[in-house]
Amino acid sequence: MDTHPGLLDFRWYGGRLSVNFTATLGKRGPEPVERLRTPDDLSRWCHEASLSEGPLPDATTRTLTQARHLREALYRALTGAPGPADLDTVSAWSSRSLPGPRLAVGENGTATLERPQLHLTGDLLTLVARDGVDLLTGPHAHRVRECAAPDCTLLFVDESRPGRRRWCSMDTCGARAKMQGYRARRAR
Ligand SMILES: [Zn+2]
Repeated sequence: MDTHPGLLDFRWYGGRLSVNFTATLGKRGPEPVERLRTPDDLSRWCHEASLSEGPLPDATTRTLTQARHLREALYRALTGAPGPADLDTVSAWSSRSLPGPRLAVGENGTATLERPQLHLTGDLLTLVARDGVDLLTGPHAHRVRECAAPDCTLLFVDESRPGRRRWCSMDTCGARAKMQGYRARRAR
């Protein structure tokens, strides 16, 4: 259920920023659900992903197009079927330079950390791409899975010790599968 009329809720079951970003296109297949329909959707996603504090980051039609392009490149990379152009796309975004942490004089004259506030959607896409690079080259690279519900298609990082997680969420697809299993057993 959408909480705001006309606005689609985002999905946050992926366990990683880059994986949650791929979830902005839902039910991948013949009739996918595009959750990044307007630049405002992109701003809202960045805000809900806690990528920026304060006012919503500015997004334009151009950054929206770039965001979808990056998203699909990340999706193919995470599902193990990237083309060279996809890896170039992710790399181009991840290697952009961003303002880094700085030292400032704090109370008692000691040095304190000052984190820069990023407000440009392009900079925020760089953070998403860097998370993707980190994930693809880290210990969980082979733990990116697709939800077992046939119509769901959401990706998640399986961080369970046995590595047998099947559902994007036990509250949605997992609960539905449990209920279907129960009904099937009762029918027999
Ligand atoms: Zn699911």
